[in-house]
Amino acid sequence: MSAAHDPALVSPRTGRRWLAVIGLETHVQLKTRTKLFCGCEYRFGAEPNTLTCALCTAQPGALPVLNCEALALAVRAGLALGADIAPLSKFDRKHYFYCDLPKGYQISQYDQPYCKGGGIALASGRFIRLERIHMEEDAGKAIHDRGASTLVDLNRAGVPLIEMVTQADIQTAAEAFEYLTLLKERLQYAGVSDCDMEKGSLRCDVNISVRPAGEGWRTKVEIKNLNSFRFIAAAIEHEAWRQIEAYESEDPAQYPVQETRLYDPERNQTRTMRGKESARDYRYCPDPDLPPVVLDASFLERERSNLSEPADSRRARYREQLGLSPADAAALTSERAASDYFEACLRSGIDARDASSWIRNELLGWVGEPELGLRDFAQLPISPRELSEVLELIRSGRIASNAGRKLLRARALAGPDGPGIAALVAQLGLEQVQDDAQLEEWCRAALIGKEKIIADYRSGKEAALNALLGPVMKQSGGRAAPEKVREILKRLLSG
Ligand SMILES: [Zn+2]
Repeated sequence: MSAAHDPALVSPRTGRRWLAVIGLETHVQLKTRTKLFCGCEYRFGAEPNTLTCALCTAQPGALPVLNCEALALAVRAGLALGADIAPLSKFDRKHYFYCDLPKGYQISQYDQPYCKGGGIALASGRFIRLERIHMEEDAGKAIHDRGASTLVDLNRAGVPLIEMVTQADIQTAAEAFEYLTLLKERLQYAGVSDCDMEKGSLRCDVNISVRPAGEGWRTKVEIKNLNSFRFIAAAIEHEAWRQIEAYESEDPAQYPVQETRLYDPERNQTRTMRGKESARDYRYCPDPDLPPVVLDASFLERERSNLSEPADSRRARYREQLGLSPADAAALTSERAASDYFEACLRSGIDARDASSWIRNELLGWVGEPELGLRDFAQLPISPRELSEVLELIRSGRIASNAGRKLLRARALAGPDGPGIAALVAQLGLEQVQDDAQLEEWCRAALIGKEKIIADYRSGKEAALNALLGPVMKQSGGRAAPEKVREILKRLLSG
């Protein structure tokens, strides 16, 4: 291994080489309409306790029924990650007591998860193996911020999750960051989850221990409730050094213990949350209310055929077959909606470089602009056909290219039901003026009082023409066709 890839943390005090051993457990919310075992809808930010029923509030006698849409998305996630889907899996009860879990147990999968293996290759070529993926229901939310009281919101109770557990293959904070970025991209492209950390639809726990190079594994610590990839990387970095310093203190009372810690991004430190439960504490048992999940080959085949091409393969194709730069290919695949849009542009006959440059330099940058009100690229109300119309107007000289930009923005502002491109060209008066008589009138007006420039031009300074072009364009409100203006100016000056 080259020095650049050396994952060791070298203690500045002792010069000792330490290795971090890191595993990640990532929960993502499946993008279903309803919850995992009942028909309640889920929307982030809804009024508390308005999206609940007898089942998700744990009324006696309510029985769970598996949501097939959730199962299909879970399977698709497994396929997108190259995992093996088990033909037979089952649901188990994981018992614990907390106010946001009124049943007293969470329905999860224990010894027979629906998915094993798979993983993600990092750019370095190192492969981060997944141990398993299982389905489970989310718990509700306990809100502790009202003084002494705790409020419970059960809207989230029963929302479908998958949990992806890696092997302890990750060696550095940077690798954890890269793994998560690629994982999120893979799941978004597969249409499994929006992976929006701000809405809690992607959450990640870190398991981390350190060991001196060449020695065996030591006690691992779990860090919970990390809400950004940047914080995850910072927490790993911090926790690894905390453990190294603890071991190097040579005081066994300070050595890391098996526990769950919380990361505080403001102080950049972790602190004890609670002792770590082991599987035994949860008293797992099969859920008698749910039959085993049996998946047949035709179901798997159908889900496999529903998978879209992943981002990394699209990026390679854009570079190798379409000749785009790596930066362009990366920008176009930064979200699936943009990449799908680019592909639709190619299908409607737009040149790859044109499509790429308009998407990258204009359209992508409009997302999040308050004026346009686009929350994500998928909301862009400009169809690829309309972009193609605008490019054709520019190519044929009917509008200038900065008028094209104006036109597209107007189209975006008008929303999905707004006027089309042709109507907007007329409405905004963007069509270039080609009429010779009109252009000549503007040119003659621009020459008045410009004796110095005229003399310069006539003495051979071709560039002097540019000083006349500006006033003509200004007078025409930017609509004069510039090439024609040049011709007319030349003719007038040589006469
Ligand atoms: Zn419900």
